[in-house]
Amino acid sequence: ARQFTRPLNDLANQFNTFLSAIAGAERVFEVLDEAEEEQDEGQAIELTNVRGEIEFDHVWFGYEKGNNVLSDIQFHVEPGQTVALVGPTGAGKSTIIQLISRFYDYDQGKLFIDGYHIKDIKRQSLRHFMGFVLQDTFLFHGTIRENIRYGKLDATDEEVERAAMLANAHMFIMKLPKQYDTILDHDGNGISQGQKQLLSIARAILLDPAILILDEATSSIDTITEIKIQEALYRLMAGRTNIVIAHRLNTVLNADIILVLDDGHIIEQGTHDSLLQQRGFYYGLYNSQFSQ
Ligand code: ADP
Repeated sequence: ARQFTRPLNDLANQFNTFLSAIAGAERVFEVLDEAEEEQDEGQAIELTNVRGEIEFDHVWFGYEKGNNVLSDIQFHVEPGQTVALVGPTGAGKSTIIQLISRFYDYDQGKLFIDGYHIKDIKRQSLRHFMGFVLQDTFLFHGTIRENIRYGKLDATDEEVERAAMLANAHMFIMKLPKQYDTILDHDGNGISQGQKQLLSIARAILLDPAILILDEATSSIDTITEIKIQEALYRLMAGRTNIVIAHRLNTVLNADIILVLDDGHIIEQGTHDSLLQQRGFYYGLYNSQFSQ
């Protein structure tokens, strides 16, 4: 498989994980758009009014040739459905997200969004209907307002604040001495891990994407902030297609489809109840990971 641009490759090396690389990539997308357009196929389509249907049709992928990380991946997501990706570390969950966001191109099979082959969609339009809330929130040096507005660059101050309210971030922002004008560096100094997540939720609410990619945090966050995050995510996820790397019990309970991955294969697929009844891999995973 080929990584689509050198700059993204270099950028990826600067981050600890590939998921934070996607988050970082979000920012450079604007810069890269021009270069990307050159790379788009001649007939690349600009998608508008995306419904959020996703289909993997026998997709195979490896980061290195001859070393498959995903094998024969097949699933179908209707607009508005929530898909939970579960499975052990290294199973291929993040890699599925890499392909949906087209951070990498797959090797074999086909991947469709709204019935369009993903390789035929203009990369720039992909960024407009896909939002990310990842474990490591991507922040840049600038004010809180600018960091939220990054979701929609032409948003008014009112829109920014409304998104922050829906994301349960407004209250903590208003308690800061400079409120929305508080300057963050790229580590988000002075605000907590949980507050960073609320900002990234606010940013995604502002973007209002048809497809939301969510990597649930595993790090422990105090209970009150955790409740705020859950509530904000609930608002954010409503009415969209959500692809979630799931670590929370509620997520698997409420998912329309759970994809159980192991060693690059989807080994089970179904709802929580149907998978529990099978008493297979998910049953064991659930008892060890989710049921506490
Ligand atoms: P998960 O998200 O389920 O933990 P990943 O999708 O991150 O799994 O990883 C699947 C496999 O791909 C693992 O064996 C991992 O080591 C490998 N992998 C992930 N990213 C890369 C990369 N950039 N280059 C080579 N191998 C990778």
